[in-house]
Amino acid sequence: MSSAAASAPAATTMSVRPTTSAAPSVPVVDSLVPFDDTRKVETAAYSLRHYGDDTWRLTPSMVVLHYSGGGSWEGVRDTFAPDVANLGEKPNTCAHFVVDQDGTVHALVPVTIRCRHTIGLNDRAIGIEVVQPALPDPRAADAAILARRPQVTALAALVRMLQARYGIPADAVIGHAMANDDPRFHDLLGWRNDHVDWQEPDVVAFRRLLSVAAAPG
Ligand SMILES: [Zn+2]
Repeated sequence: MSSAAASAPAATTMSVRPTTSAAPSVPVVDSLVPFDDTRKVETAAYSLRHYGDDTWRLTPSMVVLHYSGGGSWEGVRDTFAPDVANLGEKPNTCAHFVVDQDGTVHALVPVTIRCRHTIGLNDRAIGIEVVQPALPDPRAADAAILARRPQVTALAALVRMLQARYGIPADAVIGHAMANDDPRFHDLLGWRNDHVDWQEPDVVAFRRLLSVAAAPG
């Protein structure tokens, strides 16, 4: 997922306000990928094939954590921007946010639109990419994120904000590696995930940061 893209971050920053005072607002840079009517129609058709649900609209009830496998947020955006087939089907994959290593949060797709980021859960889950190169041991990659304070602090603040806004409980914040075993997983064509990002013990550790982030101040 890495690339050598060199475009600068978008200049505008919007503050997405939470619905409760317990969750801080999180600065989000608008870095949206193209998502035209054709891609929406393809997304609805994908949803019909895989979930029996002919819509591109998302009402979020989960968050799935990912890491990029590459070293830049621009590489993530460049992977998701073109509407090419993935596993033989359009639309292209995408995620709703990417969190850079310095803690900058980029919005890639509005959370009102479904993204292909996690087989079996794309009809309900917001996908968040975290910039982290792949390592031979995926647990080491998870650990690198958890140790990178600006990034993991921003990630926790973003997730807290989404939890507050959409009423998402902590056990509905999962890792991509956990998706196949999640009770909410379903795919009418029998597809399964083969990804190793964010294994359960590391997600459990991340959930503890959500509790810390919820403390006053
Ligand atoms: Zn993933």
